Amino acid sequence: MRMEELTWPDFEKIKGHVDTVVIPVGSVEAHGRHLPLGTDTFAPVEIARRVEERVRELGCDVLITPPVWYGHTFALNVYPGTINVDAGAFKGYMREIMREFAAEGFRRIVLLNGHGGNHSPLVLAAEEVVEDFPDVEVWLINWWIDFREDILSICSSQGHAGQDETSVILAIRPELVKMERARGKKARSKVRRIRKDIGLELFPDGVNDDPSTATAEKGEAILSVVSERITRLLVDDDGERKSSRGD
Ligand SMILES: [Zn+2]
Repeated sequence: MRMEELTWPDFEKIKGHVDTVVIPVGSVEAHGRHLPLGTDTFAPVEIARRVEERVRELGCDVLITPPVWYGHTFALNVYPGTINVDAGAFKGYMREIMREFAAEGFRRIVLLNGHGGNHSPLVLAAEEVVEDFPDVEVWLINWWIDFREDILSICSSQGHAGQDETSVILAIRPELVKMERARGKKARSKVRRIRKDIGLELFPDGVNDDPSTATAEKGEAILSVVSERITRLLVDDDGERKSSRGD
């Protein structure tokens, strides 16, 4: 179920038997000269759609919420089209959204995150929410990190606007990908360096990987394995909760 398509009476009914909400969280941000600015939101929205479908086939239910499009993106802010929300403001905004879902009665809040810069503010926001709602559990899923092993069995490398992300967008919105401009390489720094224009060095043109070998087939394989893994985690955890309650 997608929250934005429900009426409030429908929503109220659903609250009684669905205890998990999935909130896709992204970023509006430069992704090389070849990928759209919405890349980091397109991916988690599509994964959430697939998870919802698969979970339903297995007899469970989750509520998918509208995505949070804008995130915290410091390093890429050197490129046009990156809209950076200050980390404190983003943390507070996410905390309030999660609090509302907790107050509505949802006991598991899944943050399906598509963007690295969101990670720390999301953790801090979640910690604040669970202080106030001790029976709530927040899951923070960074799809490209948590399922890295699976992704690297499909792609030879991964990175910002790289082979994995480009493949995923080729699978979801091929008409938005300019493959003729897809180029880049890995840039690494041994330690975390924070400087106003560090993005120019670490993400030349907004890329940190070679995207030229991306394909829609690889993207489809990534989306399928990631959504299957998340579905399993949710369904298995549901089973454990039910058996511990003795239902
Ligand atoms: Zn990205």
